[in-house]
Amino acid sequence: MDIPRIFNVSESAHRIHNPFTPEKLATLGAALRLEPGTCVLDLGSGSGEMLCTWARDYGITGTGIDLSQLFTGQAKLRAQELGVADRVEFIHGDAAGYIASEKVGVAACLGATWIGGGVAGTIELLAKSLLTGGIILIGEPYWLRLPATEEIAKGCHAGSISDFLVLPKLLASFGGLGYDVVEMVLSDQDGWDRYEAAKWLTLRRWLEANPGDSFAEEVRAELTSGPGRYAAYTREYLGWGVFALMPR
Ligand code: SAH
Repeated sequence: MDIPRIFNVSESAHRIHNPFTPEKLATLGAALRLEPGTCVLDLGSGSGEMLCTWARDYGITGTGIDLSQLFTGQAKLRAQELGVADRVEFIHGDAAGYIASEKVGVAACLGATWIGGGVAGTIELLAKSLLTGGIILIGEPYWLRLPATEEIAKGCHAGSISDFLVLPKLLASFGGLGYDVVEMVLSDQDGWDRYEAAKWLTLRRWLEANPGDSFAEEVRAELTSGPGRYAAYTREYLGWGVFALMPR
């Protein structure tokens, strides 16, 4: 049980598996005015940077669930490194349908909303773990500019144009689901560069260390096409942000 191998290779050196920088993650934590002792649930927790740094900086406790064995292992090591292993727990597994045994003050899914079958389904799932007065966090892409063709959408790794909305429509869609948007922190092109460009050196080093691996062809193809594709499509067309929601 794991995610497709290409992500475990290309993002093996990432601490944050989305276009947020460490500064943006800290800004988000501060924006939420987290009280020490707040419980945070994180579905698709990746390498655990959000829970670990918020435990260190804001005194939260947390549980993260992630399907990547590699990332979950890295999250546990990060918790030890930051001295918060007694406050955050990381579980390797499928987060689809996961409901916390004790309700939480913040329930999050950043960059993995397929876990609940899309944004609406993920909000519904997270709501089942949420205390009254709690906050749901959704990290999701949106179109900076609406692509003129489906080919452009595919260049951004979207299945189609309809996979994402422009920002005003995304914000309105949360209202349509019965939620107030109470905060948001948006990434920028520098953040996207850190997320995407950081994959290339990792891919290159992997190729050098694994010349005979049967997976090398796929990794080579990704390294060859990735930079140009990113510059032409994702960097120009896609935004990304984390939206803080409270039920109306
Ligand atoms: N929230 C993290 C990771 C985002 S990347 C961060 O911002 O850094 C998407 C993550 O979802 C990856 O870590 C991947 O392993 C995880 N994932 C994908 N499908 C999943 C599933 N069904 N259940 C739990 N985690 C999943």
